Amino acid sequence: MLRSALLAAGRSPSVRRLVEANPLTKPVVRRFVPGTSPEDAVRATRELSGHGLFVTLDRLGEDTLDAGQATATVRDYRQVLGVLAEQGLAERAEVSVKLSAVGQFLPSDGEKIALDNARLICEAASAAGTTVTLDMEDHTTTDSTLGILRDLRVDFPWVGAVLQAYLRRTEQDCRDLATAGSRVRLCKGAYDEPESVAYQDKSEVDRSYVRCLKVLMQGEGYPMVASHDPRMVAIAGELAARNGRTNADFEYQMLYGIRPDEQRRIAAAGGRLRVYTAYGDEWYGYFMRRLAERPANVAFFLRSLATQ
Ligand code: FAD
Repeated sequence: MLRSALLAAGRSPSVRRLVEANPLTKPVVRRFVPGTSPEDAVRATRELSGHGLFVTLDRLGEDTLDAGQATATVRDYRQVLGVLAEQGLAERAEVSVKLSAVGQFLPSDGEKIALDNARLICEAASAAGTTVTLDMEDHTTTDSTLGILRDLRVDFPWVGAVLQAYLRRTEQDCRDLATAGSRVRLCKGAYDEPESVAYQDKSEVDRSYVRCLKVLMQGEGYPMVASHDPRMVAIAGELAARNGRTNADFEYQMLYGIRPDEQRRIAAAGGRLRVYTAYGDEWYGYFMRRLAERPANVAFFLRSLATQ
């Protein structure tokens, strides 16, 4: 219930105004979002790569209905990719893109605009020598996002996708995408989805995650294991070994600010660990999803407000 309430609040403009207006919120948000500018993103990348970690940068700004904002997001991604290349960080960092941030929801021609915009980001990533992964949003966008992925992969075969284990369809999507050259980031899923399309029970989601991991690890693509769950991390390691994969043949991924000690432990043990690092002014929806994932995060938020 708390999860649904927080996710609903994450979509409410009035709650958003309240949370954003509170000057005490920002220091708490910094735990999950290292800053607002491209410079902040590059600084965080340098720090994380200093610890042997890889990075994927997400420029916040989902659900835009403003073509100008979508264009600004594209410009920002291209700028950041240029700086990563200039500073020798492109081997360590790629970018993650939400198609709704680059126009997917625009009322006329949204999908085409999102495809064209994503293509511009892919061109910049290609020039920088790195990759792009398309984030996955709520289930109403899954077909559109996978369609755009297919189009982009014609010219940029390294474009990756996110699949969400809570969706009933995902095991089949994993089979479809477990092919040579394909990069799939498997997560549990962060949105409030109806029973008709998504498993509701945590244990069912976990079982689906393991089934999907098996398909990806047995397949020919590059699995990206996006979870903070110690059980999923352990099972992924076992499945990789069982399928003859070395540390270079798959990677673990976690969010910025979540289990940082575990992130470094995996890297120190020789694993590839990529930190999903979101930056920008539009942190509200992202932040609320982080609170919804874990009651302890809500307690941390409230405690921080009380002690400031
Ligand atoms: P959970 O089921 O939330 O937690 C399981 C266990 O993990 C907990 O019991 C605890 O032991 C441990 N754990 C979790 N959080 C913490 C914490 N803060 N501190 C200590 N231990 C903790 N979702 C989408 O819908 N679309 C996306 O495109 C997307 N991209 C993502 C990219 C990355 C790299 C990652 C890591 C997540 C992404 N997500 C995305 C979010 C994802 O769907 C989950 O909501 C989120 O990762 C929480 O699920 P979990 O697997 O970490 O485990």
